[in-house]
Amino acid sequence: MIFTDFFTFSNCDKLMQVKVNQAEKRSWLEVDLGQITTNLKTFQQALPRETNIMAVIKADAYGHGDIKVAQILTDYGVNMFAVSNIDEAVGLRKAGIRGLILILGYTSPIYAEELYSYDLTQTIVSEEYAKALSEKDYRVKCQFAIDTGMNRIGLSSKDPRHIRDIICRYCGVFDVNGIFTHLCVADSDEKEDICFTWSQLEKFNNVVEAVSSLNLPYIHCFNTAGGFRYLNNSKYSRIGKIVRLGIGLYGLKPDKNISFPDGIKPAITWKSVISMVKRIEEGEGISYGRTFITKHPSIIATVTTGYADGYNRLLSNQGFVIINGLRAPIIGRICMDQTLIDVTEIPDVKMGDTVVLMGECEGVRYDANDMAVDLKTIGYEVICGISKRVQRFYFK
Ligand SMILES: *Cc1c(COP(=O)(O)O)cnc(C)c1O
Repeated sequence: MIFTDFFTFSNCDKLMQVKVNQAEKRSWLEVDLGQITTNLKTFQQALPRETNIMAVIKADAYGHGDIKVAQILTDYGVNMFAVSNIDEAVGLRKAGIRGLILILGYTSPIYAEELYSYDLTQTIVSEEYAKALSEKDYRVKCQFAIDTGMNRIGLSSKDPRHIRDIICRYCGVFDVNGIFTHLCVADSDEKEDICFTWSQLEKFNNVVEAVSSLNLPYIHCFNTAGGFRYLNNSKYSRIGKIVRLGIGLYGLKPDKNISFPDGIKPAITWKSVISMVKRIEEGEGISYGRTFITKHPSIIATVTTGYADGYNRLLSNQGFVIINGLRAPIIGRICMDQTLIDVTEIPDVKMGDTVVLMGECEGVRYDANDMAVDLKTIGYEVICGISKRVQRFYFK
């Protein structure tokens, strides 16, 4: 039997009611779509006026939910989207998302018909790929990736005229609508990396000049970090018309050294509940492996989220959760579906209480960037790692 009620989300100053299935109140994300649009608008203001945004919504919009994010961005005038693969792209089309959908990675040529019929734009990753896809005889929309030094995908930028010849050769077969490159150290402050990024921009600009007679409508190279740090000073006007905005939309920094304009904030709060609270004696072991032994009598609470939810097990005996605006340390090993916390110092914790695993609560912050530091990784991985069984709830 399923019970539903009106559950009030308190996300700092925002109060609103969402219908929540009580049976599912175990581990969930509250996604603030209004914050995503605030982030979009703040970037638009920080960039030159004529810059267009291509929203990067691959990997389910970095875990936020690609359809919801695409819908709200469409309402705010975004009409270019980038995803990683054909399944993501088809999912968006089936949900009614229009405009350009660019698939940034490889799609087997077997899917040429789907690419064509769903009106998707496929990245051409190499000359070999162009040939294989062309043999399927569909006039697929496509963009050529240009490799300016990342060495991941694309035609090498070393010989711009050769690139022009290849693109011209395929213009009759495909509907070629653009070219792009990707910056690999635009988030770094190191002098070497800054030089490298400028060299990538110059190489790309040379290619763009070589193909200028083709009048390709979509020419782009900037990710969040690149758009934010290089576009305003760029002397190359042709290559800066479109920014592929990914992580910045979700309010996270590409690198901890980057400072964003005020108002850009993460849009997700990850919450869970307490299933049990108990008092235990000094000298007791907690969780698998008994890696934590209580040093004094303690009050221990059990939280209904574990590593199967994407709650990283490396936070065992490391991280903390926020409860009633206070930090409760994670003790012992995180289990598949449950985690133990020490609430000895926190008054009145009881079964059914909500805890914040990631986000901000009553002035205490622990967002994906903070968690990434503890995990020695990047915020991107943290938010993409939240499992699909963690239900997403949306508000504006
Ligand atoms: C993921 C991705 C982006 C977005 O990068 P952010 O750092 O999230 O802004 C842009 N371009 C390409 C090719 C990507 O793969």
